[in-house]
Amino acid sequence: MTFRTLDTADLAGKRALVRVDFNVPVDGGAITDDTRLRAALPTIHYLSQQGAKVVLLAHFDRPKGKVVPEMSLAFVAEPLSALLEQPVAFASDAIGPEAAKVVDGLENGGVALLENVRFHAGEEKNDPAFAKALAANGDVYVNDAFSAAHRAHASTEGLAHLLPAYPGLAMQRELEALDAALGNPKKPVIGIVGGSKVSTKLDLLRNLVTKLDYLAIGGGMANTFLHAAKIDVGASLCEPDLADTALEIIDLAGAAGCKLLLPTDVVVAKSVKPGVHAETRNVYDVRPDDLILDAGPETVKTLLAAMDASKTLIWNGPLGVFEVPPFDEATVSAAKHAAQLAKSGKIVAVAGGGDTVSALNHAGVSADMTFVSTAGGAFLEWMEGKTLPGVAALEQ
Ligand code: ADP
Ligand code: MG
Repeated sequence: MTFRTLDTADLAGKRALVRVDFNVPVDGGAITDDTRLRAALPTIHYLSQQGAKVVLLAHFDRPKGKVVPEMSLAFVAEPLSALLEQPVAFASDAIGPEAAKVVDGLENGGVALLENVRFHAGEEKNDPAFAKALAANGDVYVNDAFSAAHRAHASTEGLAHLLPAYPGLAMQRELEALDAALGNPKKPVIGIVGGSKVSTKLDLLRNLVTKLDYLAIGGGMANTFLHAAKIDVGASLCEPDLADTALEIIDLAGAAGCKLLLPTDVVVAKSVKPGVHAETRNVYDVRPDDLILDAGPETVKTLLAAMDASKTLIWNGPLGVFEVPPFDEATVSAAKHAAQLAKSGKIVAVAGGGDTVSALNHAGVSADMTFVSTAGGAFLEWMEGKTLPGVAALEQ
């Protein structure tokens, strides 16, 4: 992947149209987590310091191409202004005279936020006419919304063809981390894939086995693999219909030289309740009324040793029901070990996925990992080996 980088751009006096992800969680009109606003600050500051007029484009919620007043982005301007410590002008439309008036009123270094791009049907349709109307307010295009890059919309893809296009600083950092984890990783590479179901991660598993030296499978999805290997998983979460698919993935891994690490021991209980009596069993000793809720200590030991033998780790999905202690133990042990290796420079450790981010936060190690992606769908599609249209459009 090769991109222009912002440090090569001539920005003084230019209007920089910046796609950001301001789809923030809201409760009663208030932002409950401003991570996404903070993620955009370095790029906004940089552009502003270079003397650009910073014009922010974003979507909020799903207005489906119509003006839905409750989905206006107006409420973001003030909290953003507080974080930036500078005024943020708001335009009540993403295109047309309203937008032009606000953009034309900016001084060099000034910042404006335009109304929800999804108020126009042309956004999600990637309509060239809508992209052109957006482009009318910019001289350069900067995409800092990796989390929206799996969608080919006008503000995430179309614009990149109309203006000189650059990744923003957060986007650039994410692309570099992902490249170091799967694009051009230092070998050996180990993957950990956990979570609840095989069915949601088929493409991801198929892609990873062709790229990795080791793949540890954990969480509920490991049960389907055990079941496919004729091991009784009792009352555990399992997708018997996917047994053949699991065998196909085992074959693909064999052909590609990827060593699969399946659980050899598990932690079981009769129900998923905090403080419920839990027992460790060999996978061959699981009883009919057992629920497998975590990987066992022997499995974890094997996994940590494989991490020690690796130079790169890519992780999606917890190893057990980490929300309910003590079934967080395998996930927390693996997370702490990965963070330790990453901190001491022995491994590049990249992780992502909604519940994976929660699990790493729960383990208290997010800051010590090389990179933790909060991009959700875009991160998963990238792990599936898919081309992300918003990223491809930035390539030179
Ligand atoms: P991510 O959001 O990081 O991609 P997933 O959504 O695939 O991860 O999976 C997370 C969920 O998997 C968690 O809610 C966790 O409780 C569940 N899980 C993990 N192990 C098991 C298990 N053995 N049985 C049932 N659910 C499990
Ligand atoms: Mg999830």
